[in-house]
Amino acid sequence: MNNEKNFLSYMVFILVCLVVMICYSSGIITNISEKIEVNSTLAVNANYKSNNLIDDMEKNSEKIIETIKSFNGEKAVSYYITNEIDDKVVYLTFDDGPSVNTRKILDILKKYDIKATFFVVGKEDDESIELYKEIINNGHTIGNHSYSHDYKYIYTSLENYSEDFLKLQRLLKEKCNYDIEIARFPGGSNNTVSDRYHKDIMVDLSKYLIESNVTYFDWNVDSTDANATTMSVDNIIREAIKGAKQFNSPIILMHDAPPKTTTVYALPCVIETLKKDGYEFRALSPDEYVIQFLRAKY
Ligand SMILES: [Zn+2]
Repeated sequence: MNNEKNFLSYMVFILVCLVVMICYSSGIITNISEKIEVNSTLAVNANYKSNNLIDDMEKNSEKIIETIKSFNGEKAVSYYITNEIDDKVVYLTFDDGPSVNTRKILDILKKYDIKATFFVVGKEDDESIELYKEIINNGHTIGNHSYSHDYKYIYTSLENYSEDFLKLQRLLKEKCNYDIEIARFPGGSNNTVSDRYHKDIMVDLSKYLIESNVTYFDWNVDSTDANATTMSVDNIIREAIKGAKQFNSPIILMHDAPPKTTTVYALPCVIETLKKDGYEFRALSPDEYVIQFLRAKY
């Protein structure tokens, strides 16, 4: 009887071992541990959750189709591209800074001697002002990503948006003597979150920036670093490189908000791989190749 019990226990043990081995080799356990890691990060960064929700909106592919439907080609053009270039050029763009990650990114860019673009929000503490200045002095470009990044406020009316936009223009002029000439809308020019506050406001805001002589940029590659509060390094590297290689001139969406620590870790590998592939790196400017998901029609 005892022998039978021992034999049974032994068989159960072997079975469990087999299941664990099969799960491990098929990646199930790795995925589970990854999920646990992401979940604990989410808990730590719970206070960032609302921002993360907004960042999630900075994804676009299905929204392009939505845009075509909602505007029906009458008020706006969707997916507007101009000044296409033949050279292999990467435009790295970092949204939502400055933050502690911005300095780390600046160090990496300096090490590889390359230029990039920072779509910043408004911050007035000494450290942030210092970071704006460092971005400028290192030869990168600053773009206006709105002062507040508060969708509910800026997308309620043209007045709110322009007031918020100009507040950041003034801040950079006063503190850094810098004229911002480029912009990126929070969520991109075709974001549909704005419809909650003011239907089709993006057409008016597009007109406003065009008439203000400010060139706004969307992107053609999403590094997916906004898909989780802190996305895995491997994921960011994979998506950024896979996306970039589809284009001669990729404009890569990345973020340098406080929780985006893994974007910093992913960056050297992304740069090295694309450099090896023959890409050069440039900062966006008003005369540069432009991608806009939505552009007001005149
Ligand atoms: Zn943003």
